[in-house]
Amino acid sequence: MSLIVQKFGGSSVANAERVFNVANIITSKYKEGNDVVVVVSAQGDTTDDFIEKANEINPEPSKREMDVLLSAGEQISMSLLAMAIEKLGFPVVSLTGWQAGFRTSSVYGNARIKRIHCDRIRKELDKKNIVIVAGFQGLNRFDDITTLGRGGSDTSAVAIASAMHADLCQIYTDVEGVFTADPRKVKDARKLSEISYDEMLELATLGAQVLNNRSVEMAKKYNIELEVLSSLTKKPGTIVKEAAKMEKMLISGVAKDNNVARISIIGVPDRPGLAFKIFSKLAAKDVNVDIILQSIGRDGTKDISFTVIKDRAKDAVQMLKEYADVLGAADVVYDENVAKVSIVGAGMETHPGIAADMFEALYDAQINIQMIATSEIKISVLIDAKDADSAVSAIHNKFFSVVNE
Ligand code: ADP
Ligand code: ASP
Ligand code: MG
Repeated sequence: MSLIVQKFGGSSVANAERVFNVANIITSKYKEGNDVVVVVSAQGDTTDDFIEKANEINPEPSKREMDVLLSAGEQISMSLLAMAIEKLGFPVVSLTGWQAGFRTSSVYGNARIKRIHCDRIRKELDKKNIVIVAGFQGLNRFDDITTLGRGGSDTSAVAIASAMHADLCQIYTDVEGVFTADPRKVKDARKLSEISYDEMLELATLGAQVLNNRSVEMAKKYNIELEVLSSLTKKPGTIVKEAAKMEKMLISGVAKDNNVARISIIGVPDRPGLAFKIFSKLAAKDVNVDIILQSIGRDGTKDISFTVIKDRAKDAVQMLKEYADVLGAADVVYDENVAKVSIVGAGMETHPGIAADMFEALYDAQINIQMIATSEIKISVLIDAKDADSAVSAIHNKFFSVVNE
């Protein structure tokens, strides 16, 4: 007998038919004699709909109340799924995140799981119940409801798998696994049979939303092997693990992130200490900076540009404008019509020329690069948002129809 954790995303439980489909997947594992703990997301677009509803009432609700609202989505789906399993004649119990013992940090809307008290889940498994847990939610030290950030149910599932030493953690979604690019956007995208934690973490962080990046971070930390697969077909999915065989591919995937904005501080005096001042100010405001580009000083001044996530851009610009006089900068400007397109692959550590191939693909598609950032296993470029989809296709085509064949 094994302990299996299964997570089902929003589209997998979007309507009654899908809820029964998922109930059948769960009960077939249970019938084999396994203990089954299920983490479920809110149905379909429920979370987005709730955000819209809140907006109609108050465009700037407190984060606390927002979490009270958003956590309700997962409560709906957990109970409906439990009812479907009851209907199929199996013993089942649904638990909210707090009933299941999830304790989190205090940050509403983006809380981190601190620990899980698993006794209730264990008790229910001992009673031979299938346990359905609402994903994406917990309680903080004030006993307030928190949510884990968009896509957070993946992390709930990995956290349970780790806390309970599960034998298997399956992430069921609406595609057949992790692909070399978003299969909904790139028709030649290929399914990967395996991918390493490090590469998956980069892809997830750079915009491949098939797995939440924190869930991958946690899976790596606790060495939990993940299987990403479709709830709608019975095909084998993708295994995410430490030493993945990468089918001799130089890069494992292309990802796109539209949730970025570029900020430029123009005419900063060309002397030591300015970058320090700017970025420590931003850090003090909790603004995470990504790609940074500084021009060579000319006529005693230079420009510093960097990217931040879109919803922090206005705050950051306002703060920097107020600070511009102190810095001696001429202006602060920002652009939200940008996108970050990245390639990820452990192969690039040992193969020269990958960056050149990526830039050639962009050149052939006549796409201008605004900024570039690299690490051992990734290269990102910042481009105009309107070019993002064609950039992904051009780059994907370059690597997956030429280099890898
Ligand atoms: P769920 O509701 O199951 O959590 P998500 O919508 O969060 O599902 O994630 C699945 C989606 O991720 C897919 O429908 C697909 O469009 C998108 N996606 C983006 N990049 C990739 C990729 N490299 N491989 C697979 N899916 C990807
Ligand atoms: N329902 C939440 C969201 O839409 C959490 C999740 O689906 O993982 O982001
Ligand atoms: Mg998701």
